[in-house]
Amino acid sequence: MLTGEQYVASLKDDRQTWIDGRRITDLTTDPTTRIAVDLVASGYDTFHDATPGARNPLLTPPRDRESLREIIGLLRGVDMLAHTTFTSVMTLLTVLPQLDAAYPEYAARVRKHLDLVADRDLRVTECITDAKGHRSLSPGKQEDQDAYVRVVERRPDGVVIRGAKLHITGASLAHELFVMPTKKMSPGEEDYAIACAVPGDAPGVKTINTTYAFRGEDDRHYPLSRVRQMPDCMVIFDDVFVPNERIFLDGQTEFSAIFAHSLGLWERLGGVAEMAHDADLMVGLAQLVADANGLTRVAHVKEKISEMVIYATLIRAGLEAAIANAHTTTDGFVYPDELYTNAAKYHGAAEFTTMARHLIDIAGGAVLTAPTIGDLELPELEGHIRQYMTGNPAVPGEERLRLMHAVRDMVADAFGGWHYVTNVQSGGGLYAQRIVTRKHYPMAEAVEMARHAAGLDPKS
Ligand SMILES: Cc1cc2nc3c(=O)[nH]c(=O)nc-3n(C[C@H](O)[C@H](O)[C@H](O)COP(=O)(O)OP(=O)(O)OC[C@H]3O[C@@H](n4cnc5c(N)ncnc54)[C@H](O)[C@@H]3O)c2cc1C
Repeated sequence: MLTGEQYVASLKDDRQTWIDGRRITDLTTDPTTRIAVDLVASGYDTFHDATPGARNPLLTPPRDRESLREIIGLLRGVDMLAHTTFTSVMTLLTVLPQLDAAYPEYAARVRKHLDLVADRDLRVTECITDAKGHRSLSPGKQEDQDAYVRVVERRPDGVVIRGAKLHITGASLAHELFVMPTKKMSPGEEDYAIACAVPGDAPGVKTINTTYAFRGEDDRHYPLSRVRQMPDCMVIFDDVFVPNERIFLDGQTEFSAIFAHSLGLWERLGGVAEMAHDADLMVGLAQLVADANGLTRVAHVKEKISEMVIYATLIRAGLEAAIANAHTTTDGFVYPDELYTNAAKYHGAAEFTTMARHLIDIAGGAVLTAPTIGDLELPELEGHIRQYMTGNPAVPGEERLRLMHAVRDMVADAFGGWHYVTNVQSGGGLYAQRIVTRKHYPMAEAVEMARHAAGLDPKS
């Protein structure tokens, strides 16, 4: 397994990557990506095991519900790239039985590739969301044929792909880009039915980074996002050659959606685990800031915190139910239940703004206007800041100041905005979760129950 230091060294290759209108020459030292790189490196160190043949525990397929629960527990607090590596690998493991039955050659390539990822301890990103062009038109009917990633040339030894995948978490910092179709393709759209693995530094791969990372010199008043960063990238495939052994699907339109379905499930489960953690964090912040303001006994504040507690508890309940009702593939590999995963993800994303609203409501305007730590350190300001930032005298002014920074960072600044949009859009958006939830809900049983209750069934 790699150490953090070896991971950092592995990024010093020829990858082409940009941010804010300039080329990044060294991801490991650039101020916009350095912290994210360090975060991934520390994830490597956390899991490092020098025993020959040891593998990252996040890549070990869960064989029963308890190991699924354990692996979800391991995800808590890991960097986003470890997270996307986990979901990418689980996605491939889940589709393997279907590939085995229909296309054993693809299945054999997937197995070999999974071994390569585990043996070399690589980090992988999920490249699924295409540019998509006109949203109401299918890939084959787009004015721009490259609106969805497609094969532009087939050679005896592989294919050449062109197009772009958008919003890809951590793509510039990954070793492998796992490319898959974003939805089911129709006959005639064979060139878009392409799933493959591309090295992050392959010729023709270009990434454009965006980040919520604070761009100034002193980031101490960003207590959360200063240690929790990851760029999201537009990944451009500018005629990239993919050798045969890295192709997992090419042209089989009827199979084009299996990867997206499986990824959606794992991505949403990971999202629910993350949201469960963040919901508890927001409840804790609300309680602390209420105390710092002297509001813990005020009725409307208690009600708001109770509502936040219910929100947080229901996300966790959904996560637990998804694990407790997990299913098993024919390979003996356990995956979470679709209904509970999607319902919990929807609930967490849709109600996030209520949580943020309550938190901001309880905290007050200092969420935006609390002076920085730099201000606090100035001898001519320190006394004033401590004095006027104090609410409840039992809580020092500096603590209240720092709490306001944390609330702002969590829900009212660049990271907070990222949170809000990501909760809504990640894993395919709220619409996707509504569709999947409805598909897996036992509607027939509910209808039968309703017929009984309404006296519509004469035999009942
Ligand atoms: C921070 C962040 C990180 C992300 N990370 C990843 C990642 O690592 N990998 C990855 O692959 N993706 C990633 N995503 C992408 C995410 O999955 C998409 O944003 C999401 O699927 C929505 O796609 P879109 O952004 O193209 O929006 P759109 O699909 O354009 O959606 C906008 C609206 O249009 C509606 N809509 C679109 N098409 C139709 C239609 N045909 N009929 C009816 N309604 C329609 C949608 O329901 C939605 O309401 C990430 C997104 C964010 C914000």
